[in-house]
Amino acid sequence: YPRVRFAPSPTGYLHLGGLRTALYNYLFAKSKGGVFILRIEDTDQARKLEGSVEALVKDLNWVGIEYGEGPGKEGQSGPYIQSERLKIYQDHIAKLLDNGSAYHCFCTERRLNILRRNAIRSQHVPKYDNRCRNLTHDEVKEKIKSGIGYCIRFKLSSDCQYFEDLVFGNIAYDVSLNEGDPVLMKGDGYPTYHFANVVDDHLMGITHVLRGVEWQISTTKHLLIYRAFGWTPPQFGHLPLIVNSDGTKLSKRQGDVRVEDYRNSGIFPLALVNYITLSGGGFDHVVGEGVRLKTMDELITEFQVKKISAHPSRLNPDLLQECNKLEIKRQLRDDKLAEKLVNNLKDLIKKKYPQENLNVSEEHVRKVLIWATPRITNIEDLITPKFAFLWILPSADQIDLNKNLLQKLIQKLENIEKFDEQALKEYLRMFSTENEVKFSALMRMLRSALSGLKEGPGVAEMMHLLGKNQSLERLKAVLR
Ligand code: GLU
Repeated sequence: YPRVRFAPSPTGYLHLGGLRTALYNYLFAKSKGGVFILRIEDTDQARKLEGSVEALVKDLNWVGIEYGEGPGKEGQSGPYIQSERLKIYQDHIAKLLDNGSAYHCFCTERRLNILRRNAIRSQHVPKYDNRCRNLTHDEVKEKIKSGIGYCIRFKLSSDCQYFEDLVFGNIAYDVSLNEGDPVLMKGDGYPTYHFANVVDDHLMGITHVLRGVEWQISTTKHLLIYRAFGWTPPQFGHLPLIVNSDGTKLSKRQGDVRVEDYRNSGIFPLALVNYITLSGGGFDHVVGEGVRLKTMDELITEFQVKKISAHPSRLNPDLLQECNKLEIKRQLRDDKLAEKLVNNLKDLIKKKYPQENLNVSEEHVRKVLIWATPRITNIEDLITPKFAFLWILPSADQIDLNKNLLQKLIQKLENIEKFDEQALKEYLRMFSTENEVKFSALMRMLRSALSGLKEGPGVAEMMHLLGKNQSLERLKAVLR
């Protein structure tokens, strides 16, 4: 059974790209009865951000991605936080030093800077010149003894490495063309990303690595490290770049957004998950045919790595709104979810309009939600000014009021039985003819009285939505 991992560095918040990596790893594991592991790669202590692991776990839970092993869920290969595994890296670096695949490097920061500057000046790729490779055993001993600081580097061999990328197909690359020997252990005793990543993937029994394409260039280097240990590497698949709809670098406006911000702006987790899979592929389903969302279980059953597209995933933010709308519809079809939705909306309304006399009976809120689904993509839309009349009595100060006429209408309305949109529409037409008042003028007056709005839904529609009692109450209120 496959074992896969999501291995974020706790240096910030979970963004859409990270969520995609986590999601695809999760779907892959679950679709094959495997294990999804969360590993925290915090070897860059300077960039660590307090609280980000907790925030990350919260985001994953919210989306419905549960890890089988990871922080707080110890399994066969913990600990799952790299800073708690330093002894393991020490032991393993000793192996590479012993078999001659790694060496001590005593070059100072100053020397490395000079190398870098000279390379740039002569328009070469800056790379370490591997000078310390050639130190003799005795020289190394001597330098260590005298207390000079050092790091440990990997001897990059200059042969081309090949691998079959699960998404991109055949990849071949000779790392040594563009890089000097990479550091495996830093001067502070912490491993670098490359070293810890390989050691952990091996020790944790990772069978498939699915990660962002920005790491693809590192993979051949990783393969060399596997070879130096004599280990069989996992299979690798890289997920394509995520870009704006016009192909440019992902921007905040179009989707480079924290998962937390999606949550706070009323996006539902299943909408977000469907949006990612619609944009990134991995399924047979056709984009744009979104008549209904897939549940997480369906996504798991239908996921196929080979269907992931190698083309950059272009995000279309409208599609996310469309997915959110479908999610609202889905929840309304399910009694339990609908009840929760109604309660959530009630809470939002109460927070937005902290006053008494809110029109928020369960029945009313539910009726509004059903009415509103074709008009909104987010339940927060329902607390914008346009919809305020649904919940609060409008302040109607500028009404062109014809008191007698309104009085008469109220009396009539009190006696009619059918209060649905169609019946009301016909009735109002008739009333305007009978009383020889212009229909549009009548409507203007009623709309103001009912909603305080100059435009909006049809008057009959509004009255139906508000119900008989509430409608009459509002009409009477303007006469007082
Ligand atoms: N720690 C790396 C990151 O933050 C993990 C890359 C990988 O999955 O190998 O993306």
